[in-house]
Amino acid sequence: EAVLYVVATPIGNLEDMTPRALRILESVALIAAEDTRHSGRLLSHFNIKTPMIAVHDHNERQQQQKIIEKLQQGSDIALISDAGTPLISDPGFILVREVRAAGFSVVPLPGCCALIAALCASGVPSDRFIFEGFPPAKSQQRLNFFTALAGENRTLVFYESPHRIVDSLADIVAAFGAGRPVVIARELTKTFETFINGSAAEVLAQVEADPNQRKGEFVVMVEGAPQQDAGLLDPRSSEVLDILLEEL
Ligand code: SAM
Repeated sequence: EAVLYVVATPIGNLEDMTPRALRILESVALIAAEDTRHSGRLLSHFNIKTPMIAVHDHNERQQQQKIIEKLQQGSDIALISDAGTPLISDPGFILVREVRAAGFSVVPLPGCCALIAALCASGVPSDRFIFEGFPPAKSQQRLNFFTALAGENRTLVFYESPHRIVDSLADIVAAFGAGRPVVIARELTKTFETFINGSAAEVLAQVEADPNQRKGEFVVMVEGAPQQDAGLLDPRSSEVLDILLEEL
């Protein structure tokens, strides 16, 4: 039975390519890549000559048919994205779901993922977190989006691009409060890898003050809201609890 491999690729540092990923990318009949030119550079660096087809947000549904046909012919296929783990703020979900529905195995080859790399070195609580992908690009929508998350107790993880990092941090200050602990991870695994941590207002000020800190790719982590006391029940429950306690 043919297999679809979902293969993570580096997020900057080519040494993060795993030996298993190299072996699979070499051995499959076809590589489905988000951007064949971009991935072409990665593959040629490793001297991999496997043919590629493009599978991106705009053609995923059409291409899925071709890929399923290939699998039916017995050919193994690998899915990669421009960087990191496919499907994580990247195309592939529709394809994986359809390939599974068609009865084929989908096998993950784990590796780089910017959110995990950021979180594990950031010093923010990592026992529970929610990943919210890219915040909306439009300012009012983004503020509403952050405001809706302000009471969340788990660590919040976002992706952000260099042209929106300052505006996004300003909205984080507005929605979560100036004092909420924030860490941003920039250029992970690359030469200018940087972590900036502090209150939301401090992190914003540092990024505003230094144009270099606005370059590259970002993971933004916001600590969750402090857990409220168990005592904070709704008024009716408090009343009932008071009565019960009196009876004890
Ligand atoms: N699939 C990728 C992954 O597994 O992390 C994410 C793809 S998403 C289109 C690209 C975003 O991921 C960037 O805008 C940035 O927020 C984050 N990212 C990717 N590489 C990064 C890096 N080296 N350092 C910091 N953030 C990175």
